[in-house]
Amino acid sequence: MLLTGKRALVTGSTSGIGLAMARALHAEGAEVILNGFGDEGEIATICQELGQNGGSAKHFAANLLDANEIEDMMADAGPLDILINNAGMQHVAPVDEFPTDKWDAVIGLNLTAAFHTTRLAVPAMRDKGWGRLINTASAHSLTASPFKSAYNASKHGIVGFTKTVALELAQSGVTANCISPGYVWTELIKGQIPDTMKARGLSREEVINDVLLAKQPTKKFVQPEEVGALAVFLCREEAGNVTGSNWSMDGGWTAE
Ligand code: NAD
Repeated sequence: MLLTGKRALVTGSTSGIGLAMARALHAEGAEVILNGFGDEGEIATICQELGQNGGSAKHFAANLLDANEIEDMMADAGPLDILINNAGMQHVAPVDEFPTDKWDAVIGLNLTAAFHTTRLAVPAMRDKGWGRLINTASAHSLTASPFKSAYNASKHGIVGFTKTVALELAQSGVTANCISPGYVWTELIKGQIPDTMKARGLSREEVINDVLLAKQPTKKFVQPEEVGALAVFLCREEAGNVTGSNWSMDGGWTAE
């Protein structure tokens, strides 16, 4: 149990990668606080599963596109030891047809929300002399694919943000790092298949094999649990000198 006594908020943890990271932290003894949308009954089951001492984990349905809701969530969550900015969204369209409200939402959730949670979490971490800030970026923080202008911009941006925070906090005991997965088999990926089919005129199988897995030399989707394990590593004492970094977990995608 590496994380007993630590309090961790994972944004976007009602499904996919965030849920796997929350499960991994919980398995190491952390008190996990959840955020995200979804079916009320399913979220209640997750809260029960990830509670401590027979209780339920806290869940905030804060919409991270709203700075006021973020402020309320952070105030109610209280001081954190670990903050994982993971909530994210995608929209796939050519740049000249990209809906401007989608641009604002992708940048707002993938980048600006992390600024707000981070600025609100840092003072308590700095006071304590220990903290872990982890941002879920993407292989698209290092490379680009067409039709994902907002997503690529947001993920490149979160790396720059993370590096800056890491430098500002370098002597405080607080680290800040990104994890950059390749394609992970979650709802976010499943949801963009129809749009990619439309944008590129391909079948579902062609999108999976010729667009998504074509990027990953291992020819395997990353599993959410693998990302959870990397998040736990970054929370270890031994990772205290790992800061300002961007860890790829992409089946070799960005090695090419
Ligand atoms: P997902 O769609 O399964 O989960 C997204 C989570 O964010 C959910 O809990 C959802 O409720 C929450 N969320 C969405 N909008 C929100 C909002 N406005 N406010 C609060 N919560 C909100 O997605 P995922 O695939 O698990 O992706 C998680 C992160 O990983 C994202 O940042 C994504 O960009 C990144 N990522 C995913 C992949 C992949 O292949 N799935 C690859 C690289 C990076």
